[in-house]
Amino acid sequence: MDIDVLERIGRFGHEGVYTVSDTVTGLQAIIGVHSTTLGPALGGTRIRPYSSFADALEDVLRLSRAMTYKAAVAGLQFGGGKAVIVGDPLTVKSEALLEAYGKAVDALGGKYVTAEDVGSTVADMSVVRRQTPYVSGLSVEEGGSGDPSPATARGVLAGMKATSAHIWGTSDLAGRRVVVQGVGKVGGVLASLLSEEGCDLAVADVADGVAEELAERIGATVIAPDQALLYPCDILSPCALGGILNARSIPTLECAAVVGSANNQLAEDSDADRLSRAGIVYAPDFVVNAGGIDNIAEEFHADGYSEERALVRVAGIGGVTTRVLERAREQSVTTVSAARRLAEERLVSG
Ligand code: NAD
Repeated sequence: MDIDVLERIGRFGHEGVYTVSDTVTGLQAIIGVHSTTLGPALGGTRIRPYSSFADALEDVLRLSRAMTYKAAVAGLQFGGGKAVIVGDPLTVKSEALLEAYGKAVDALGGKYVTAEDVGSTVADMSVVRRQTPYVSGLSVEEGGSGDPSPATARGVLAGMKATSAHIWGTSDLAGRRVVVQGVGKVGGVLASLLSEEGCDLAVADVADGVAEELAERIGATVIAPDQALLYPCDILSPCALGGILNARSIPTLECAAVVGSANNQLAEDSDADRLSRAGIVYAPDFVVNAGGIDNIAEEFHADGYSEERALVRVAGIGGVTTRVLERAREQSVTTVSAARRLAEERLVSG
């Protein structure tokens, strides 16, 4: 490894970073174990093409660190980990490759527990499971919790209501204008829930016809993807990609709050200050998008998975969001700093 790679790994204090390659199946993966202080490092497997090893490494390092914070703030007995498999999921994925990946996860002896993420599915996890027990997010038929996206959407809704109460003194979202950027697995469910809440809803998606079909079904305005961040609204909900809140986009935002599921919404840590200076309340992504991991964590309960218990835990995201926002206000720090402090306190107290 060269100095740059070692520097990157050292920056966030990872416990371990493991590279995996298998010439037979073409598997190229990186597994990042950020922390096992609170328990096994839990986090999904992202399958996507990367332009370089450095890009893939950066992604796994940032995502696995965020998982540590996410699990700690959510009050779970799990640490933070994440893995990336390099390649287009449509072409690179095969049963043999997923089994080879399962062997690599197994070799870590339970330090890392995987699950689905962007580019991987519940069905893929069943294949990984042939080689290792350290896998979660399994299908309901296999005793698992199934697709985590609906739980993630419910958690974002709970975070949004808490943010609304913090800003406007009421958790009632009726009449609030909300923009959902990306109406895929999470954003689509969230938009339906917001429609039931009586929001003045606008949706955007780059995939052909997806936003139009949803808008027709639930009653929403469709906006062009390049207008999503510029559209005047009460709450912007990024549910597509990370890195969208940056030095260029923040000055053009026309919202009072940002509450969405996308991981790593801030391009840089300093963007939290930029949002705060712009008077925009940012509910940190790793606080409000913990519904999926809350749901998955229930698979490890001694009595097995229970949707009822999972939903109670997911609803708790509202209370955690309130604590984070109040703390930020009281201590005059950004909401991201407040949330990280909360996580770090848990990492010390266990
Ligand atoms: P998804 O792929 O199902 O949906 C993403 C949608 O965003 C797609 O419909 C895509 O076409 C659209 N999109 C992509 N770029 C866009 C752009 N520039 N403008 C508008 N739309 C765009 O993914 P998902 O599972 O719904 O996850 C969404 C985000 O939430 C991701 O960042 C993911 O990491 C994060 N997240 C998901 C979960 C979960 O349970 N699925 C949990 C935590 C965090």
